[in-house]
Amino acid sequence: MNYLSVADAQACILDHITTQAVELVALHDSLNRVLAEDVIANRNHPPYDVSAMDGYAVRFDDIKDANDANPVSLKVVDDIRAGQMPNIKVLQGRAARIMTGAPTPQGVDTVIRVEDTQEDGDDVLILTPPKQGANIRPLGENLKNGKVVLTKSTLITPGVLAILAMVKKKQVPVFAKPTVAILSTGDELEGLDEAIDENKIPDANSHALYAQCKSLGIEATLLGIARDNPLELRAKLAEGLKYDVLLASGGVSVGHHDFVRPTLNALGITMHFWRVAMRPGHPLAFGTTDSGCKVFGLPGNPVSSMVCFEQFVSPALRAMMGHSKLQRCTIRARLTHDVKDRVGRAHFVRVTLGRDAQGYTVTSTGTQGSGVLMSMAMAEGFVVVPEQSEGLKVGDTVQVQLLQGMDFQEGLDI
Ligand code: AMP
Ligand code: MG
Repeated sequence: MNYLSVADAQACILDHITTQAVELVALHDSLNRVLAEDVIANRNHPPYDVSAMDGYAVRFDDIKDANDANPVSLKVVDDIRAGQMPNIKVLQGRAARIMTGAPTPQGVDTVIRVEDTQEDGDDVLILTPPKQGANIRPLGENLKNGKVVLTKSTLITPGVLAILAMVKKKQVPVFAKPTVAILSTGDELEGLDEAIDENKIPDANSHALYAQCKSLGIEATLLGIARDNPLELRAKLAEGLKYDVLLASGGVSVGHHDFVRPTLNALGITMHFWRVAMRPGHPLAFGTTDSGCKVFGLPGNPVSSMVCFEQFVSPALRAMMGHSKLQRCTIRARLTHDVKDRVGRAHFVRVTLGRDAQGYTVTSTGTQGSGVLMSMAMAEGFVVVPEQSEGLKVGDTVQVQLLQGMDFQEGLDI
């Protein structure tokens, strides 16, 4: 079997992914979810033409020639506050005092900001005319009754959630989250609740994968540790296949005790590939069941498992939840040192980011071995050295995939 490129492996996975069913969630729980249906406005907003400023509602014809030397004097005949309806029509030579959000009275076509006027007893002096129609928000400018205001597949951000509130969507149709099961495999592994045994390896993958799922908004189920024996493995894997997605780490390679792939085969799973030309990350197995479970056999090395989650599992889970943006953002940055590499595999170098006058810089997090979890723990991103590259040089501009947490920075750049 040949090695698949990262892009081909990802495409193969996404080919087997369908979006989850639609579910209704409470408005506040819809944050960061993806809208599963178009939303139609059930009202106009604003419900009538309203003032955008505190000021005076006037007829433009009355004030168009005003200036500081020759102000126009208008009689103030009404005082309209937000939430109140105007009492009278404004006739020639008159104005109504008006507050932001208050409905404009009949007869007017323009609002003058209070700063461009001067009170004069019962009158107001207009010093500077704005453009005709200025400072009026027309009926339905924000929401038009009966019109689609949000389309299916929209990501629900705080602003979108506020629109949903305005159209009274107390229950919001979103794509459901997949159920995810996580299983670690290996005789040498020691569970979080087990006493320290110097001869064992503490299970990191279950918890890294759990946290990676959680960062996507998914509460995964930990199935614990399966030992390297086919019977126990079969029972635990079978349990995992009841979920939408099963993440099993370790035991997926070609070692004598690597029973994951043969056991998955025995359970009737269709394996689509198990070798990807990447470092760290190989081996990575992907399969599907007739009942719709997506199975990822992730490498045992903790860094490899986490890198594979980011490159393959995360886009798949996001696609299932209806997201259209599946990939981590990339930025361009300059390397602060050489990166040695060999042709043949895409290399995901764990880096931290810095900034100088020319823009972003990237620096390796240190020893990049796939068992050195610290290189991943400290990483803010991956520099991807392409499959065909022989390495990179200090000062080279590279693409950096940003990891979570990179949507904030120190300092304000505006
Ligand atoms: P394997 O893929 O099972 O051959 O494991 C490769 C390496 O990853 C071995 O050194 C394992 O001890 C280590 N490993 C496997 N699973 C885990 C885990 N859940 N947590 C920490 N290390 C692991
Ligand atoms: Mg193992």
